[in-house]
Amino acid sequence: MGNRPGAGPPLTVELVHSGKVRDLYADSGELILVASDRVSVYDVVLPTPIPDKGRILTALSLWWFARLADLAPNHVISADRVPAEFAGRAIRCQRLDMLPVECIARGYLTGQGLASYQATGSVSGVALPPGLTEASRLPEPVFTPTTKAPAGQHDEPMTFDEVAELAGPGTADQLRRLTLAVYRRGHDLALARGIIIADTKLEFGRAPDGTIVLADEVLTPDSSRFWPAASWQPGRPQHAFDKQFLRDWSAGLAWDRTPPGPPIPPDVVAATRERYVDAYQRLTGAPWQPAPS
Ligand code: ATP
Ligand code: MG
Repeated sequence: MGNRPGAGPPLTVELVHSGKVRDLYADSGELILVASDRVSVYDVVLPTPIPDKGRILTALSLWWFARLADLAPNHVISADRVPAEFAGRAIRCQRLDMLPVECIARGYLTGQGLASYQATGSVSGVALPPGLTEASRLPEPVFTPTTKAPAGQHDEPMTFDEVAELAGPGTADQLRRLTLAVYRRGHDLALARGIIIADTKLEFGRAPDGTIVLADEVLTPDSSRFWPAASWQPGRPQHAFDKQFLRDWSAGLAWDRTPPGPPIPPDVVAATRERYVDAYQRLTGAPWQPAPS
């Protein structure tokens, strides 16, 4: 990347990947994962940023990584040793060989999980009791992995056997165990603070010594569905702290969910930002501190 005059010492980091929301830089064999304020809906990045989103999601991920460290090793090296211009929204991480599986855990029935249940009575091959409805709590959380589709394509559901074929049976078993353990811990901790984490998506990678390491972001409103526990009521869609709010807004537009996405009007930007701030404050119990300008 270019060096900006007056921005301190020249950056030695090299952009290796620009995802929908995060940019990855390589530095001395390590990665710097920088969360932008970009937001994507139905895998399409919208042209309007959500102020503070990158910093909020980075702070939340770090908060969770610290609370999950005994369950699974994670990729965090430091949140401090990052270029000054990324401070607050970047994490220096161990560079991993990512497993091409989106490791999803669902504790409640909604979205794709509900659609699958309504069609087949099961989710990812796990039979569920009859009579469940939108937002029902499942008897036990279920592992519902998907493929990690290349840019522009959508993730497809995978059976457990397909994960085993792709990653090996031992690894598949480990992914399921770790995903459900992280989800349970996250769910219980969040519930005590008034938030239901209905489902979440995790990504794991392999370290050079073969260890399976928790990577990417964890238990954020971008990777999970967050519902206020106080108003949870199965049988209807839930008020959401997460991107569901933007999905619902975009569903009211004449937009076919292909790029380019629609610009977000200022009142929807403000309401979306408020949801990210609210989720951060409820979970951590700390006031959100905007960056000094
Ligand atoms: P894509 O990269 O395909 O656009 P995405 O939109 O989900 O997917 P982002 O979430 O914006 O991408 O960027 C994060 C990327 O970094 C993901 O591809 C994720 O798999 C990858 N990643 C996260 N942690 C690590 C790590 N420790 N080592 C290597 N790659 C990682
Ligand atoms: Mg991602």
